[in-house]
Amino acid sequence: MIEITALRKSFGSLEVLRNINFSVEPGGVVALIGPSGSGKSTLLRCINLLVIPDDGAIRVGRTAFSFGQGASVPKTRVLADFRARTGMVFQNFNLFGHLSVLQNVMEAPVQVKKMPKDKARALALKQLEKVGLADRADQMPHTLSGGQKQRVAIARALAMEPEVMLFDEATSALDPELVGEVLNTMKQLAREGMTMVIVTHEIAFAREVADRVVFMRDGIVAEEGPARQVIDSPREEATRTFLAHFH
Ligand code: ADP
Ligand code: MG
Repeated sequence: MIEITALRKSFGSLEVLRNINFSVEPGGVVALIGPSGSGKSTLLRCINLLVIPDDGAIRVGRTAFSFGQGASVPKTRVLADFRARTGMVFQNFNLFGHLSVLQNVMEAPVQVKKMPKDKARALALKQLEKVGLADRADQMPHTLSGGQKQRVAIARALAMEPEVMLFDEATSALDPELVGEVLNTMKQLAREGMTMVIVTHEIAFAREVADRVVFMRDGIVAEEGPARQVIDSPREEATRTFLAHFH
């Protein structure tokens, strides 16, 4: 469902992604782990083209892009279409503060897909029900807990009926007692067969929910394999050192 080939990205003279290769099967769940600054967010942003790679190729479903010499930069319209099909959830929710919960979830289907409002409302309510927040539809975001905000953000991404979901430290900004409800929502999505790439420091969650773990270090994939194998018996010294921080 996702295929990343020889991906490179620099910011000025800083090489942040140096020849990244990996793929995700349809319905697969990959946990992306690694030290701060190793390039995890940049890689995730490349997958939905919030960041345009310098070189390499990306395929999501049937849509493929190449970058680098001879490749043309995708047009704004093409980028918007593509981003709409790859749902992204950020650490800080990024909800629209001036819109109600329901309006937040309806916004993209109405604005981007030009969906009629009554249809968008029904779809939004369905997604809010799925994350257990249908009864909060008319509230404003500031009245919600962090965990509820993040579940609204997930419902909002799902309302675009994405082919894949990308999570960038979706629970890192939450108080500890609110982490579980968001992880449970993610777990439920995984069970339903959503293809997911999850940047996380929740190692126990990665071990339980992910099929595969990709360990990044200094812009490369330093180790990759079945989740339990990488987490329980890493082959690389760097992976062991990193994981030791979580015991
Ligand atoms: P991670 O998510 O693993 O912590 P990031 O992908 O956020 O890593 O960052 C990798 C490196 O790229 C860091 O050194 C960061 O400062 C740098 N970086 C990320 N985004 C930008 C940007 N837009 N401009 C310049 N440097 C950036
Ligand atoms: Mg990051």
